[in-house]
Amino acid sequence: MDGSNYNDVKIKSNGILSMNECIICSEIFDRCIITKCGHSFCEKCILTCMNLNNNCPTCKSVLKKEELVKNYLIDNIISNLIIYKL
Ligand SMILES: [Zn+2]
Ligand SMILES: [Zn+2]
Repeated sequence: MDGSNYNDVKIKSNGILSMNECIICSEIFDRCIITKCGHSFCEKCILTCMNLNNNCPTCKSVLKKEELVKNYLIDNIISNLIIYKL
């Protein structure tokens, strides 16, 4: 190990992290929720949005709270990446 592998991991995980950003708060998903239309948001962001209107912030599809699904896979990926990042 000469340190270059570590930089590689850092660059790759930063790329993956930026694909895992919530468009509402521009942060990495905090308890990722996936909607019926296939878009992902933080749990708190989508719930706040749905208090204002029931449209998906990305594609404007009508959403129902009971159709929101937790995305444990993304949560796991993100928590692993955050360990790498530190
Ligand atoms: Zn968010
Ligand atoms: Zn959508």
